[in-house]
Amino acid sequence: MVKKTMVIAVLLIAWLVMPSARLLAVSEKTVVLGNVVGSGVTTLARGLLQGRVHSFKDAVKCLGYGMASGYGFYQAKKQVAAGRTFSGILLANLSASVIDNVTSGEGPLSYLGFTLPLVRLEVATPFAKRPRALVSFTVSPRDAISLALAISKADRASLRGGMLSFEADEPLAENVRGWAHGIFPTVVAGKPESVFRHEMVHVVQSLQLMAASPEPFLKSYRRDEGKMKLLDFGGVRAQVLGLANDLTLAKLQTYDKYWREAEAYSLVVSQ
Ligand SMILES: [Zn+2]
Repeated sequence: MVKKTMVIAVLLIAWLVMPSARLLAVSEKTVVLGNVVGSGVTTLARGLLQGRVHSFKDAVKCLGYGMASGYGFYQAKKQVAAGRTFSGILLANLSASVIDNVTSGEGPLSYLGFTLPLVRLEVATPFAKRPRALVSFTVSPRDAISLALAISKADRASLRGGMLSFEADEPLAENVRGWAHGIFPTVVAGKPESVFRHEMVHVVQSLQLMAASPEPFLKSYRRDEGKMKLLDFGGVRAQVLGLANDLTLAKLQTYDKYWREAEAYSLVVSQ
């Protein structure tokens, strides 16, 4: 119990330190460091909470692969910020997969996942040991809520760079040019392309928060007995960090200190 309380304390401190950079003053170095340290610490915390850290070696594995994934998320954000939407999303999904794997006691590349609207598919690679299924899928209430919110505030949907994207005729508030609910970007009609790229940075952040969240309700990747299934349901992702972020953080912090905005503004050159 004490261990878990400590882990939660570390998580909260990591979260609170990140918004300390001011919106316009944030440098690229700060963004890299925030991603590497943020994903490293949260991956270690997730591994501990999921009972997968039993030794110093396990801790180093979670911290090291978490940091590498954090750098992957940073590169993914750079790509979507430059308009390379699909390759950025692939890299973000790969980074999330590595974190899912090492915090489940698997090798870093044992399973590769991709988040679609409403389900995340995970495919066993040749590195997987005794996989339960070749393809398993998870669902998350957060994704369903995000999709419902995105649809409720949008007027049109389209595929943009491989992403289900939305367009709205009316902004949510004055001077608002776009928004993202989870993995669903929305741009106000007639706004420049840079707005879409900005919202795509938020989509990658959403996948990063998914990977950071401890998941107590997911089945193990491994099977105890029998044959491997072709397709299996892997369980429900709680995505507590993503939900907490959606519901509270955005309101608790002043807009110009909010790390998600600081990062998106520093990566996307506005038009
Ligand atoms: Zn934004």
